[in-house]
Amino acid sequence: MNDALPRATIAVGHGEKPQTRRAMLCAPRSCRRCGCTEDRACWDKRLKTPCAWAEQELCSACLTPREFDRWVLSLNLEMDRSAA
Ligand SMILES: [Zn+2]
Ligand SMILES: [Zn+2]
Repeated sequence: MNDALPRATIAVGHGEKPQTRRAMLCAPRSCRRCGCTEDRACWDKRLKTPCAWAEQELCSACLTPREFDRWVLSLNLEMDRSAA
């Protein structure tokens, strides 16, 4: 009868964070240059934040200065478009 409740509790307590799960669902990927992942982002010295995805398998910390400039520019363009 009450079977569903304890089973759900066990699943939650298994060490899997809901956040982790969502990240895996939408983007199971790792950086092809440094190997960082959605869960273990490296530090982006230029952004002064944990790295972000610049390409499918490339994080912002691993971009060359030139790639980085282009990426930032494309981000700004996207922001402008969504704001308008
Ligand atoms: Zn990287
Ligand atoms: Zn990274």
